[in-house]
Amino acid sequence: MASYQTINPFDGRAERTVELMSAAAVEQRLAAAESAFPLWSALTLEQRGGLLRKVAAGLRDRRDDIQRTMTREMGKLRREALAEIEKSAAACEYYADHAADYLKPQMIPTEAQRSYVIYQPIGCVLAVMPWNFPFWQVIRFLAPGLMAGNVALLKHASNVPGCADLLREVVAAAGIPEGVFDVLHIDNDQAAEVLRDRRVKAVTLTGSERAGRSIAANAGDQLKKCVMELGGSDAFVVLDDADLDLAVAAAVKSRFDNAGQTCIAAKRFVLVESIADAFVQRFVEAAKSRAYGDPQDEVTTLAPMARADLRDELHRQVQESIAKGAKALLGCEPLAGSHAGYPASILDNVSAGMPAYDQELFGPVAAILRVKDEAEAVRVANDTTFGLGGSVWSNDHVRGERVAAQLQCGAAFVNSVVKSDARLPFGGTKRSGFGRELAEHGIHEFMNIKTIYVA
Ligand code: NDP
Repeated sequence: MASYQTINPFDGRAERTVELMSAAAVEQRLAAAESAFPLWSALTLEQRGGLLRKVAAGLRDRRDDIQRTMTREMGKLRREALAEIEKSAAACEYYADHAADYLKPQMIPTEAQRSYVIYQPIGCVLAVMPWNFPFWQVIRFLAPGLMAGNVALLKHASNVPGCADLLREVVAAAGIPEGVFDVLHIDNDQAAEVLRDRRVKAVTLTGSERAGRSIAANAGDQLKKCVMELGGSDAFVVLDDADLDLAVAAAVKSRFDNAGQTCIAAKRFVLVESIADAFVQRFVEAAKSRAYGDPQDEVTTLAPMARADLRDELHRQVQESIAKGAKALLGCEPLAGSHAGYPASILDNVSAGMPAYDQELFGPVAAILRVKDEAEAVRVANDTTFGLGGSVWSNDHVRGERVAAQLQCGAAFVNSVVKSDARLPFGGTKRSGFGRELAEHGIHEFMNIKTIYVA
């Protein structure tokens, strides 16, 4: 049987050997999901909500275990892991509270006696999920999915199998019936087979553009619905009237939290020339305070990257950008002696044709793009194949909102870092993907939006 090993990204030690599931084990889970669906979808929203609240309580009860597993498997800082667990628990409660409102029939007046829309679950949804927020990324699909009445199979990233297993344990301990949610330890070829299975109705992916192309092509071939949450290269646009203290503090947080491995992290810092030098000087000073170290240790403020190969790829992008004329202001060399460490890094004078401009930098490297004025800032912010999020910094809210409206992305924030929030829809445009998670929009993605017309 094929197996793979997970590696602790801080010390490079082998963590766990995971056996890939056999075809029979996968079949057993597909069959369990199929038979759980009618029972689960027949429960009332109140019953499903009650169970989801127990999942929230279970996440909180087991937070120390969960935190340590996340930190060992993908290197997350202890306090960031604890915050992720709390956010995941709160999202379960959010959907337990709001699903009834989101799923109530919508009356639509026509010439009929009655015409309206009802929302019906579709069955088993396959979730292919990444390692960067190993609980939150799953929960933001799973909480609305379960409230909708769907059942789910999770194929998690291969470096976080322990996180996947812990989530399964928490869900089972909450009393959610067998088959409603399960984990598949499978590789990408097996995942493709599972998506082709008639019992799987749809797929949701959070991950890279490469994975997106492959999974969306398979879903298209099977005519199955898919939601794609892919990468981003969010612009952080600083206008001449911005509060630089606020903007610099936010820039450091957005770029270096989670070792820079966040799809909605600010990646391209688009600075108008009148404030560019002042911003850069403060940004470099503030970024220097990010201290790399053991992610379990409270004093550490910069985590290791999740895998050595991801760190090496990031460094290749940095080196190529420097070879094409970018200037290293801070960091930009792998941390000697570390397994997957990369320091807080800043590249100045980044321009089109460099990886730091054209590609996603999925690690702690900020790209500085200097522009003349607001109009050029908007043009450069939009000069990317990605379209996930973006932020604008200005003391004039009207101006900030005007620029925000012009950004080609799924979420534009004014004077705030881009963040996901259960109350607000989340998703991308362009090659950042399609479909929405969270809020009312997210719960409707994997439902039959069904018209009833009574003449
Ligand atoms: P991947 O996209 O490869 O991994 C994300 C998930 O997709 C994992 O579960 C992975 O499984 C799975 N996957 C990958 N390819 C396929 C496929 N062909 N069929 C089915 N499942 C697939 O990301 P990486 O870990 O390689 O990270 C590389 C880059 O991806 C990052 O540098 C970043 O740009 C982007 N990324 C974006 C994220 C986001 O939040 N939008 C999150 C993570 C990564 P397995 O681990 O078994 O390969």
